[in-house]
Amino acid sequence: MINTAPLRQFAVVGNPVKHSRSPAIHEQFGRQTGVSLQYTLLESPLDAFTTTVTNFFDAGGWGLNVTVPFKEEAFALCGDGLSDRARLAGAVNTLWMQNGALRGCNTDGVGLLADIARLGVPVQGKRVLLVGAGGAAKGVLFPLLEAGCQVLRIVNRSAHRAHDLSAHTAAQLPQHASRLSGGGLDQAQGEWDIVINATSSSLSGEAPSLVGATYAKGALAYDMMYGPRPTPFMSQALDAGAEFVSDGLGMLVEQAAEAFLIWNGVRPETAPVLSTLRAAMQER
Ligand code: NDP
Repeated sequence: MINTAPLRQFAVVGNPVKHSRSPAIHEQFGRQTGVSLQYTLLESPLDAFTTTVTNFFDAGGWGLNVTVPFKEEAFALCGDGLSDRARLAGAVNTLWMQNGALRGCNTDGVGLLADIARLGVPVQGKRVLLVGAGGAAKGVLFPLLEAGCQVLRIVNRSAHRAHDLSAHTAAQLPQHASRLSGGGLDQAQGEWDIVINATSSSLSGEAPSLVGATYAKGALAYDMMYGPRPTPFMSQALDAGAEFVSDGLGMLVEQAAEAFLIWNGVRPETAPVLSTLRAAMQER
């Protein structure tokens, strides 16, 4: 049967945005689920994010992903239309219209948790070190706490940002306060079950210097960055005794699947899309 449903228009808005893999992911999700869609790249001027979003939805756009550096602006734009996940993260990566009002969610945390589950590592009862205090770290804090980690320490190059993030989260979620702490990279000492690199250090070819951090038996080191080769953080972690290492390509696909579900009401299969993406990345 010929599908005559109108094409749903999606885009990822960012600056820069040209390297985004989101169009390739969502086009595969669309083929898999029978949703007719077009997914494009939308580079917004840095000072015109609101106009870019408004124009997109006024022209009939169905859904937008938001990437660097606009996740916090997207949060501010949603007003009362924030999901709980977005409110707790303080950042939005998924936008849509509902009953004429802009809605926003953050799917990064769900994406990370789904990918860690795919890797077969339970978070419940684990000691977790989260490196970084930017938008990506904010997005995954609440889901990690909710998943029942025993301890969650945030460390960051600028120590005050980790302190602030830890204090802000503890104030919002007092039931989790006793498991949370924050400090500089020199506060990373301890034996960890899961270490997550939520910094962009790999962009400059380096790994954060985690003073005194060691890996427990069966530990996972997870870098949110991804690429054709192991990142500097992954190499550092293997040298330091981590048993499992992973980059963040799986998280990228999982957060996209969650956005697709919000927009289209159907959850796509992620495994085949991840395999295709990985193969394409390694061919380059
Ligand atoms: P932000 O710009 O908001 O934050 C960057 C963070 O990295 C800050 O904590 C910053 O520390 C730290 N940092 C930067 N350079 C270094 C360095 N050389 N050494 C130590 N720390 C450093 O970025 P995001 O939080 O949005 O993104 C972080 C990373 O996560 C990016 O690489 C992004 O691509 C990735 N990401 C991956 C996703 C996925 O689906 N796989 C989803 C979202 C993000 P300071 O505060 O001191 O500046």
